[in-house]
Parts: sequence; structure tokens; C-alpha cells
Amino acid sequence: MAEKGTQTLEMARKQVDLVAKYFDVDPGILERLKSTKRELTVHFPVKMDDGSVRVFTGYRVQHNDTRGPFKGGIRYHPEVDLDEVRALAMWMTWKSAVVNIPFGGAKGGVQCNPKELSQGELERLTRRFTWEISIAIGPEVDIPAPDVYTNPQVMAWIMDTYSTFKGYAVPGVVTGKPLELGGSVGRYEATGKGVVISTLKACEYLNIPIEGARVVIQGCGNVGSIAAQYFDKAGAKVIAISDSKGGLYNEKGLDIRAALDCKKRYACLLQEEVSGTEVITNKELLELDCDILVPAALEGVITEENAPRIKAKILVEGANGPTTPEADEILAEKGIFVVPDILANAGGVVVSYFEWVQNLQELLWSEEEVATRLENILKRSFDEVVAIHEEKKVTMRMAAYILGVGRVLKAHLLRGIYP
Ligand code: NAD
Repeated sequence: MAEKGTQTLEMARKQVDLVAKYFDVDPGILERLKSTKRELTVHFPVKMDDGSVRVFTGYRVQHNDTRGPFKGGIRYHPEVDLDEVRALAMWMTWKSAVVNIPFGGAKGGVQCNPKELSQGELERLTRRFTWEISIAIGPEVDIPAPDVYTNPQVMAWIMDTYSTFKGYAVPGVVTGKPLELGGSVGRYEATGKGVVISTLKACEYLNIPIEGARVVIQGCGNVGSIAAQYFDKAGAKVIAISDSKGGLYNEKGLDIRAALDCKKRYACLLQEEVSGTEVITNKELLELDCDILVPAALEGVITEENAPRIKAKILVEGANGPTTPEADEILAEKGIFVVPDILANAGGVVVSYFEWVQNLQELLWSEEEVATRLENILKRSFDEVVAIHEEKKVTMRMAAYILGVGRVLKAHLLRGIYP
């Protein structure tokens, strides 16, 4: 069986093949959309705390910049590989196009286990990686952001390293920075909040009341934890949440504040810290009886193996690529309404775009300005995808692909092929 990263890339390419029949274009152009434009693999040394030197491997993959500069996060994970980063870069292109912001798609990653690195090692790794990829990034070229196991502090080191080499501050080289360094208000919350905005639109569309709706969330990092808080605020009942080690479940609804406090304090979810809970595995969590299921951890978790047992009415993809195309077919047959990743989790890239615009213009927007603009873009995009879903009688994922890939294709045809 192919490696996980290769399977992820095959899945991303298959999604383009599936949407191809809706476009009357040269197959060569579609082939171009399935390939990346530039790929940088770097091997670099990092001095460890014990004085030894370790060589790490990192990637920056630029998929497409037809509609604007490359944009996409940087992931630190032991299983990151080139194929996974290629797939994630491709999804960024479609996502930026679905919400109609002038960015292309890119992604980066370093194969490492950040849980085993000290802060000093993490900083040295980040700075050296930034230096290695500095030939490819920049505010007009390619703008990284946080992803799995990277955060505002990592973005601060990237900004500082890049700026040091330039000789002046370049805040626009990266988004998701701390507020003190030109980060945008609302960026940290944007992806999780966007997941909830999309879910509210889906509930409205399907006539499912959010009040009391039972929500299950896989992952309680940036996306999962913020989504949990906004679901709680909206009156929904989060009945289960997990991290990489497993989850906690309470059919009457979890004390979200206690669960997230525990995660913050002990870096894990402890049953004794959250009253009335049962311990469950990530596998069991996905199959719980619920109204709304939000995978917000890693890709490829809903497959043809477990899809028949998914009981949610709505699946909202906080993570990138959590559902395989084979699982998609099963979910569609079961009548489960899927809000696809390139729509559901686009809040992050939208506010990243706001941050970049503020940096380039040397302006600071208010919280209200960011919140209103984010909500407008996500609601409009949801309506545009639903309109295609109804008109062409296709799934929400296919509708989002018709919109996103279609916009990139139009831009390609307008620009033409050089020479
Ligand atoms: P994060 O590092 O903040 O959190 C990741 C979470 O996933 C953690 O709670 C971790 O414990 C959990 N996890 C890791 N491995 C797991 C496993 N095998 N099973 C279950 N849980 C596991 O990362 P994040 O930024 O919240 O990203 C989560 C997902 O959302 C990723 O797919 C990412 O690409 C996507 N995403 C993130 C953003 C963003 O702005 N951060 C934007 C769009 C999409």
C-alpha cells in the first residue's frame, strides 16, 4: 500500500479528475492544475541542546500562482513528506479561489516531532529552515502561515529571520504573527470561527436548529479548540473532543472550558479534570451518534472503512482532506451533508489575506472590521457553493470544486501560456 502522503496526493489529484467533466478545456491544462509549479526540498543542520547536530528535511511546495502570490501554512510533523505537502498546496489553491481572494496555493513542512524539541531547538530549526526557503518566499511571492504544530511564535521567528537578512522589517512575509509584530486581530480565531460560521449556514439551509445540536470535534488545537468555543457560544452541545492521544465524551455535553483548560495546563485531555466524561478513542469518536461532526486534526480519517458507520447529519471539515473520495460517495448515499474543507476552513486564509493587506498598507483594522468582512466572505462563498450544488445537483464538495477550480481555470485561460 502507498505511503500516507502518496495516498493524500492521489486523493487530491482524483478530486481534480472528478471535476474535470464540468469543464471543456484541453486535458493538458487540467494536467497542469494537477501538478505543482515549484518544489523545494531542503536538508539542513540544527544544533541540539546536547551539543550534537541533527539534519532535518523540510519542504516548500508552490502549486499555483495564477490568481496571486502563493499562500499556505507550514506544518511540523514526523510524517510530513513531499507528496503530503504537494496535496496540501493544491488544496490551498482551490480554497483561495472558492472564497475569491487573490492568492494561489502553497504549503510547507518540516519532518520533525516538535513535542520532543525544546523551545531553543524549535527556534533554531525554524530560523535555519526559513533561511533555506528564503529564496522562495516573500510578501510578493509566497506567504507562509501556521498549520499543524506551528503557531504565532514560530511565525515571529520566520518574520525575524527573513527581516534580518533583508535588513529591514518585512511583516508581510508571513501571516498568523503575534499582534505585536503586525499580526491581525481575529487571525488566531479565524479558522475555528469560520468553521462555525459555515456550520450555522449549513444548519440554516437544512433547517436543523443549532440550539442543542450535538457536536463532535476531532482535534483540539487551533481549529478544534476555537470551533468548540464558538459552538458552545452558539448554543450547541459539544459532546466529544479529542487530541492525538484520544478523546473525552459526555452525551449530555462537555464542560468545554474545563476540557480546554486541562489541555492548556497538562497538554492532554484528562478524564478526572472534566466531570462526567468517558474516555474514547479517536476511532470511536468519529462514529458517535451526533448532529455535527467536525474532523479538525489530520487528513484521511474518514475512509470507505468507517464511512458506513458515520452517524452525523452534517460533516464540517475543519481539517484539510479528512475525507477520502471513496468515503465521500458513501456519505452522499447516506444523505450526510458535507461542508468541504476548501469552504469550511477557509476562514484562516481569509483573515491571513486581511493581515497581509494590512501589512502592505501599514494599516491596522479593528476587530469589528475583520469580523464583518470575514463573515460576509464566508457567507457569500457558502451561498455560491449551495447555488451550484442545487443547479447541477452535485455534492457540496463537487460544487466547491466547480467554483474553485473553475476560477483558477478562467484565470489560466486569460493569462494564456507563455511564450
Ligand atoms: P494544531 O497543531 O493547532 O492542532 C492539531 C490537533 O490535532 C491537536 O489537538 C492534536 O492533538 C490533534 N492531532 C494530531 N494528530 C492526531 C491524530 N492522529 N488523531 C487525532 N488528533 C490528532 O493544528 P491546527 O492548526 O488546528 O490544524 C488542524 C487541521 O486544520 C489541519 O488539517 C490543518 O491543515 C487544518 N487547517 C488549519 C488552519 C489554521 O489556520 N491553523 C487553517 C485551515 C486548515
